[in-house]
Amino acid sequence: MQNLYRGCLIGGAIGDALGWPVEFMRLEEIRNKYGEEGIKTLDIRPGGPAEITDDTQMTMFTAEGLLRAENRGNNKGIVDVPTMVYKSYLRWLSTQGIETDVEKDGWIYPINVLHNRRAPGNTCLSALHSGTIGQVSTPINDSKGCGGVMRTAPVGLLYPKERAFQLGSELAAITHGHPSGFLSAGGLSYIIASILETRDLPLAVERMVEELANWPNHEECSTLVEMALKLAYSDVDDEEAIRTLGEGWVGEEALAISIFCSLRYQDDFQKAVIASVNHNGDSDSTGAITGNILGALLGLEGIPVQWIKDVELKDEIIQLADDVLTRYEESESWHRKYPGW
Ligand SMILES: [Mg+2]
Repeated sequence: MQNLYRGCLIGGAIGDALGWPVEFMRLEEIRNKYGEEGIKTLDIRPGGPAEITDDTQMTMFTAEGLLRAENRGNNKGIVDVPTMVYKSYLRWLSTQGIETDVEKDGWIYPINVLHNRRAPGNTCLSALHSGTIGQVSTPINDSKGCGGVMRTAPVGLLYPKERAFQLGSELAAITHGHPSGFLSAGGLSYIIASILETRDLPLAVERMVEELANWPNHEECSTLVEMALKLAYSDVDDEEAIRTLGEGWVGEEALAISIFCSLRYQDDFQKAVIASVNHNGDSDSTGAITGNILGALLGLEGIPVQWIKDVELKDEIIQLADDVLTRYEESESWHRKYPGW
């Protein structure tokens, strides 16, 4: 399990870092710069590791919020998990230069790299800045950007699949009010939880489609995920298949592209994440989500060692993955790391 938890979070960070240099490039520009097959390995800037972006930063704050909620639940017996994670997202907002009065405690906030701005999503910034907590039942806006789904993988590491779907949706709805913006996040959370349970990706996706169908206004998301399933087993090439699914700027497209790449290359982390970032759209987010899925399936052992060495914050992310696996510890140091205010 430690191998899978680490794989999920490190895999996401690697996909994020692989896609970041080409996030705002069309496929043709990517090929002009990196060659016919596109970007194939981490592009390390002079003197530094391969940079992670807001996708990984926010995923880390999701994990810390969930661990704080666990702490509070253990000590007070009652906790509203989305409120705890919302406060962690406010900490993230503060790292991006927008001051909030939330407590800046815990061990994640002081990490320097998290205070870099790496093209944070406008919807996340503005929704969190508004002072209102979005909910599934009271949408904060009509945004379906992929800023919800890209940050919710840790939910699937901590909760069983049906609960993970619901909570993943609730956490995305804090900032994204359109059903495709939050149901895509529920879908990813469910897939991660289901992979841990059965180690079977096709089964996880099929069951997720069934769960998704129980939710109001699921049709748009369902249609695209079902299309991804069909394309994964067809002879349509990657470029055309991904173009059919979209560009990944919105939640349902980011989830569908990631499912497509993960299913097509389910035995090969490297091939899957390379496929997931070489397209016209939101490469770091589709890379991050694909990396989360295949990392959970194949584990840290399934990821190229050099990529693990090269990705920014690898030690911190591995520590966080191990803490998610531990879930809760009755100790002073744990309370300092994940205060349950
Ligand atoms: Mg990003």
